[in-house]
Amino acid sequence: MKNLKKLLLTLVVYGIVFSATVASSVEFGRRLARKPDRGHLMKVTAYCPCSKCCGKWADGVTACGHKIQPGDMFVAAPKGFEFGTMLDIPGYGTVPVLDRGGAIKGNRLDVFFATHQEALNWGVKILTVRGI
Ligand SMILES: [Zn+2]
Repeated sequence: MKNLKKLLLTLVVYGIVFSATVASSVEFGRRLARKPDRGHLMKVTAYCPCSKCCGKWADGVTACGHKIQPGDMFVAAPKGFEFGTMLDIPGYGTVPVLDRGGAIKGNRLDVFFATHQEALNWGVKILTVRGI
């Protein structure tokens, strides 16, 4: 009887986790479903792995566990974007979402550069970003 209760509890917990995952992908799917995707106007800033940009998270590993390597190009996106989603960012490239950040909310993206100077050079751009 105790085991049955435990089993039911486990099923309920898995149910909640599963529906949360589905909800976020449904939200993003809806966004991408409008094909041909005319894109979304987003505020695109830049960052690098330094402590100025990442604070205590400056450990060379992104939020999805990706270990940053020389030549890497990727983007930090808000929660609704699944890791691995490809985005076309004018002036940067077609790159995967590999990171998140506390400040990356709403219509915001953060493109990754190897050095702080390159991130500063990018500045802040308002761009039409497409899902690929
Ligand atoms: Zn930096």
